[in-house]
Amino acid sequence: MVVGDVTTGTDVLVIGAGPAGYVAAIRAGQLDLDVTLVEKDAYGGTCLNYGCIPSKALITATDIAHEAATAEEMGIHADPAIDLAGMIEWKDGVVDQLTSGVEKLCKANQVTLLEGTARFVDDRTVRVSHSGEGQGSETLEFEHAIVATGSRPIEIPNFEFDDEPVLNSRQALAVDSVPDSLVVVGAGYIGMELASVFAKLGTDVTVLEMLDSILPGYDDDLKRPVKKRANELGIDFEFGYTATEWRDREADGIRVIAEPASTDGGEQATGDQLTLDTDHVLVAVGREPVSDTLALEAAGVETADRGFIETDSRARTNVNHIFAVGDVAGEPMLAHKGSMEGQVAAEVIAGEPTAIDHQAMPAVVFTDPEIATVGMTETEAEEAGFETVTGQFPFRASGRALTTGDADGFVKVVADDADGYVLGASIVGPEASELIAELGLAIELGATLEDVAATVHAHPTLSESVMEAAENALGHAIHTLNR
Ligand SMILES: Cc1cc2nc3c(=O)[nH]c(=O)nc-3n(C[C@H](O)[C@H](O)[C@H](O)COP(=O)(O)OP(=O)(O)OC[C@H]3O[C@@H](n4cnc5c(N)ncnc54)[C@H](O)[C@@H]3O)c2cc1C
Repeated sequence: MVVGDVTTGTDVLVIGAGPAGYVAAIRAGQLDLDVTLVEKDAYGGTCLNYGCIPSKALITATDIAHEAATAEEMGIHADPAIDLAGMIEWKDGVVDQLTSGVEKLCKANQVTLLEGTARFVDDRTVRVSHSGEGQGSETLEFEHAIVATGSRPIEIPNFEFDDEPVLNSRQALAVDSVPDSLVVVGAGYIGMELASVFAKLGTDVTVLEMLDSILPGYDDDLKRPVKKRANELGIDFEFGYTATEWRDREADGIRVIAEPASTDGGEQATGDQLTLDTDHVLVAVGREPVSDTLALEAAGVETADRGFIETDSRARTNVNHIFAVGDVAGEPMLAHKGSMEGQVAAEVIAGEPTAIDHQAMPAVVFTDPEIATVGMTETEAEEAGFETVTGQFPFRASGRALTTGDADGFVKVVADDADGYVLGASIVGPEASELIAELGLAIELGATLEDVAATVHAHPTLSESVMEAAENALGHAIHTLNR
């Protein structure tokens, strides 16, 4: 069908159907607003199609294989054969189930779905181009717009994602054979998660990082068990290097060239060039907002640092009736942060007194073991003027952790020494991603260490470690020595 040059109208226009945009659209539908959601690629955005979900599916699948292969201590002797095509098919099935669910939920909430690419014409109008020959475009007028166009992987000079041996995270999650070797450029969370997936598939992995450690921004005590496990998996690290180019080798594969990274002061570092022979190179050096393809200037919407759209605590841009949510609206670029902002934007449009609150925003790195944080670190709390008290509980003292065969790491709770309010927490270890939720709730509810410690936790569970960390801060943990 050729779509003619028709003009339609909507109360709320949402651009982008990732976890920020589709959640905004569904919430707007629940609030009886007339809402249209425009998506150019796939419902669910990066998160469901190329990010959170496919990566977690492959992390789980490769974990199962790795655990089975390394469970001799438990009396299990297995040598699992990996059928990569089967694994990818299963992962794609999970993605399909979720993305079709998003589409159904949108429809059930009276969200009008429109496939195409939106660009602003002015601050009340967008033009939506439909992909495919002869599909044309249409004009849509809106009362309010919510920009939720997400982010894309950053390319570095000489490493173009169109070049076959160069992969971004999306391409790495869809490989059709297990590479013998892989260089991962960037030891941030995406690089580290994928490094362990490939190491568990049997690939020789080298991680190249310009800084001097993995996972910038995380405390050293959280990173230590992850680095140790990565070394046990055979992952090699080259810190202090920047990948500068790659060349074909006469034999199969490529050679990645790296130079010593310049110092903090921008001075050219000295040292030897590094060469790494590999099948593929995965570039995971970060993501940048998709704000340059929307003609934002036509609507008068300003962007700030690195192209992010600046918003206030109610998700509004500098143009009062245009909102921005999710990755395009700034750090932290996490799905749940986008979903929360999407809900706030819809509620603000509906006239509700809602605002964005980042106080209890969790962040999880799905490495082996997982890292999860929420609220303030001890240093941040002290910088904010709190006298802090901390409590810690090691998983090696948890009966449940020992029965899972995975007892590296700890739970750490940070609280205000004056009144015991929980200010933050960090966990490294088994199921950290799940355990952090209780401490997020504690911060959100204004719970104290006493509240967490006095809550009876079922035995034997990993969650007892949260209770024991709170007890430790109060000086009366039962299963560890108190300071
Ligand atoms: C490998 C990987 C793993 C990740 N793991 C996690 C994780 O475990 N946990 C977590 O919280 N986050 C994770 N993330 C980050 C997470 O995917 C993003 O934070 C999240 O997807 C951001 O949501 P969003 O809705 O803002 O944008 P996106 O999900 O990027 O969605 C934006 C959508 O807008 C569409 N769009 C863009 N421009 C237009 C236009 N002009 N017209 C119409 N449509 C348009 C795009 O096609 C896209 O579908 C991961 C990311 C990657 C790459």
